[in-house]
Amino acid sequence: MHSSMIGKIAKAKQYAQEPERIQFTQFAATFRGENDTHTTSFDDGKWHCTCRFFSDWGTCCHTMAIERVLGVTIPAEKRQGEPLKMGAY
Ligand SMILES: [Zn+2]
Repeated sequence: MHSSMIGKIAKAKQYAQEPERIQFTQFAATFRGENDTHTTSFDDGKWHCTCRFFSDWGTCCHTMAIERVLGVTIPAEKRQGEPLKMGAY
């Protein structure tokens, strides 16, 4: 293999250990939920999901799950996280 390609692969392995270097600006994903498939998207810091819960609450289990999967690659100020106080249930 070409030596410069070997160097790039080594760099890629190093970068993959430092995911905070990657910050998503936009994406769309299909999300196969238990009852239906939704489209969940993130565009310039704004979340959107086609599920009904999102239209009422501005967040949903799909956006929260994607945040968990993508972790630090979602810019910190755009991470909605889970509400801390949902009452006792
Ligand atoms: Zn949703």
